[in-house]
Amino acid sequence: MTTGEDHRMIDLTSALDADVVVAGAGSAGVAAAVAAAESGARTVLVEASGHVGGTLAWQLLEHSAGFHDVRGNQVVGGVGQRIVDRLRQYGGTPGHIADDVGYTATRTPVNHAELAMAEATLLADAGVQVLLNCPVVAAVTDGRRVRGLDIETPDGRRHVTAPVFVDASGDAVLATLAGATVHDDVPHRQPASLLLKLGGVDFAALLAYAADHPDDLRPGNAVGSPDDECVNLWGFGRLLDAGHRQGLLELRRTELHLAGWPRRGEAVLNVTRVPWPGAGLDGGAAYLRLSKQVLEVVRWFRQLVPGGREAYLSAVADRLGVRESRRVVGLATLTRDDVVSGRRHPDSVATGAFPIDIHDASTPGLEHADTIASSYDIPFGCLVPRDLDNALVAGRCVSSTHEGNGSVRITGTCFATGEAAGVAAALVADGATTVAALDVPRLQDLLRRRGVLGARDGVTLQAAAPPRRPAASSA
Ligand SMILES: Cc1cc2nc3c(=O)[nH]c(=O)nc-3n(C[C@H](O)[C@H](O)[C@H](O)COP(=O)(O)OP(=O)(O)OC[C@H]3O[C@@H](n4cnc5c(N)ncnc54)[C@H](O)[C@@H]3O)c2cc1C
Repeated sequence: MTTGEDHRMIDLTSALDADVVVAGAGSAGVAAAVAAAESGARTVLVEASGHVGGTLAWQLLEHSAGFHDVRGNQVVGGVGQRIVDRLRQYGGTPGHIADDVGYTATRTPVNHAELAMAEATLLADAGVQVLLNCPVVAAVTDGRRVRGLDIETPDGRRHVTAPVFVDASGDAVLATLAGATVHDDVPHRQPASLLLKLGGVDFAALLAYAADHPDDLRPGNAVGSPDDECVNLWGFGRLLDAGHRQGLLELRRTELHLAGWPRRGEAVLNVTRVPWPGAGLDGGAAYLRLSKQVLEVVRWFRQLVPGGREAYLSAVADRLGVRESRRVVGLATLTRDDVVSGRRHPDSVATGAFPIDIHDASTPGLEHADTIASSYDIPFGCLVPRDLDNALVAGRCVSSTHEGNGSVRITGTCFATGEAAGVAAALVADGATTVAALDVPRLQDLLRRRGVLGARDGVTLQAAAPPRRPAASSA
């Protein structure tokens, strides 16, 4: 954190001014920026990497999840649904399809590159000013208020000011730099991973193996056919064990997740992992360890997995896959009990429905997931840092316990908390003195109209785009 005093030492000759500044262009940040801009705010979206799309796109995630609860009620609409609709028009997703292993009723496979492009078009349509390769490196504060952010740009350091800020950086970078307290209740964080994408997979042979070895898949896992657009396989413990015994795989795993696009010969594998202490500087060391695991998995796939002989590494995540890091202490905190009891809140601004999905680096299994019977509400207070007056948090860094985070971190839910934060930020920019003083019923009304709230019990959420507003400008 820098104070107003020492900030004078930084060259701020070309400051940017906006109504709303969003940090981080992942699922939450894209939804927040689109929503803020569509609500009339001049919006700047600041992203450290060279892409929009965040972890969902550039960790090559197999699918976005959390749009429906386990019974099939849609709980996430709004910007998230509009992204799925847009991507579907271009063939980058089949839309919401049945989740045969039953985390919730549906999963939503996405092609990672097409997803990023679809999100970029939505940002352009909304008139968001997007700054890429511009990490937030410092916050200028005045007591509980954030006055501005310093960002590193390819042209040097610049300053961005606004009356309100949204932290959608996943790691709570903005809020932490501004002095917000983070939860310190974690005995160990979830492990980090690098997902990899294979090309050249012979799905006829792979799926024949899966069909002939149901005991090597999770119970209930439908195998699918080589003509399917997408398949979803959990298991291969026997082949992994053989790879470990033969010295091909150093890491011992008893299960992997393979998300396949059979007609394209492509498969995304989620199997690598290292313990993750959660500190930014450890990322490079974790990446190096994971890179070796990636190469070993590719070699194992070619040598031991039916249909894998011609497979090649077509893509690897461009960033460390962090499931959990800093979570900001908010006016409310989402807990395990909130999630499993399906708790309702009068000041709800988003709805979650994904199980508590916690991976453990110390065991060779894939995960521990507590299924939940219904959806649950995410109160506005989870998005409001306790220590800051004019900032919101969205996505996986919202105020939550380790276990609450195991559910709220899922991308469908991140779209929803992002959109709620974006609309709230536009309202604050329009006149509220502090985020905490916001008229929550008014916010909820706007979120209902945008299809973010109000879709339980089988109601389909609306996903209509609000009218276009002017773009943010540089001053
Ligand atoms: C290995 C793995 C597998 C997963 N599998 C699934 C799955 O199958 N389905 C699912 O729905 N979810 C899955 N998740 C969870 C989900 O991907 C994340 O929780 C979710 O994407 C987080 O979204 P977000 O918008 O909060 O953050 P992110 O998508 O991580 O976006 C944060 C953005 O902020 C940027 N940023 C960071 N620091 C700064 C800074 N200083 N300045 C500016 N920008 C910054 C980052 O570059 C990034 O683009 C998985 C996660 C991991 C790691």
